Amino acid sequence: MTINSKHVSWDIHYGCGYACSYCFLQGKESGRAARAAVCRTAAEWQAAWDRFDERFGPARIDIAGGEPFLYPGFTGLLKHLSQKNEIFVITNFSTDLSWLADSVSPENVRLVLSLHPEHVPSAGEFLKKAAALSEKGFKVRITAVAYPPFIEKVLSYRRGCEASGLKFTGTPFFGSYQGGQYPAAYTEAEKKSLSGIFDQPRHALYQLQQVSPEGLPCNSGVDYCRVAPDGAARPCLNRPPMGDFLSPEFSFLEKPAPCPSPSCHCRLEFEYCGAEKKGPRRR
Ligand code: SF4
Ligand code: SF4
Repeated sequence: MTINSKHVSWDIHYGCGYACSYCFLQGKESGRAARAAVCRTAAEWQAAWDRFDERFGPARIDIAGGEPFLYPGFTGLLKHLSQKNEIFVITNFSTDLSWLADSVSPENVRLVLSLHPEHVPSAGEFLKKAAALSEKGFKVRITAVAYPPFIEKVLSYRRGCEASGLKFTGTPFFGSYQGGQYPAAYTEAEKKSLSGIFDQPRHALYQLQQVSPEGLPCNSGVDYCRVAPDGAARPCLNRPPMGDFLSPEFSFLEKPAPCPSPSCHCRLEFEYCGAEKKGPRRR
């Protein structure tokens, strides 16, 4: 059994062919500039990850963006990193991935396929392509954002996944829509209809921001960190930078620190809340 002692969420770049209304970069000037930029080259990342693996051993790496498969040199990086690490790629599935099984082992690469209604004309076609990847041995999960105008669509995606034997996990919308601040602005009826999109009731509490981790000790930064396209590493979305991931001096924090935030909505991060997740993660 492979043991992963560390876990990293890595936004490799913000480039993307889509422009979803609910995207966290949408409508921000700084965001538009960031979307176009490739801050660090594939060769720089590969050197940094080789050093990381030597120092910390195999890791679980969740690669997101932007759209990772549009990052220049991504295929080579994925092949290289998946030889030693357990990789999750969060992709909008806008590129042809029929080559993937010939290049990387489905044992080491899992796919989170995000379905975006404004850009995907046929959910049925999307799910058919997802099922084809699953048949090739990849573990795939479909996800979609419950943006208020798309709640019914997201629920229909979930039903479509169930019918196709595919795993589905939805995400609430985080941001403002028609004067309401979400997820707090979901009506009780909407929350009820969305309750089935979460993996577990505990996840719903965090993702709908109904529990506060503020003040609890947290292992983010100790066993986990989040890395931005320019290499800046942070313990989590809600804490300030802890160093440059590409520096030879990069290191994790030594001990848990109290959470500074009244909410923790990222499903990769609230696992560390209350210092619950500590030590190796096992496949
Ligand atoms: S696919 Fe993802 S990164 Fe691209 S615009 Fe939509 S939400 Fe943003
Ligand atoms: S509980 Fe969540 S928001 Fe708070 S420090 Fe941990 S990961 Fe960050």
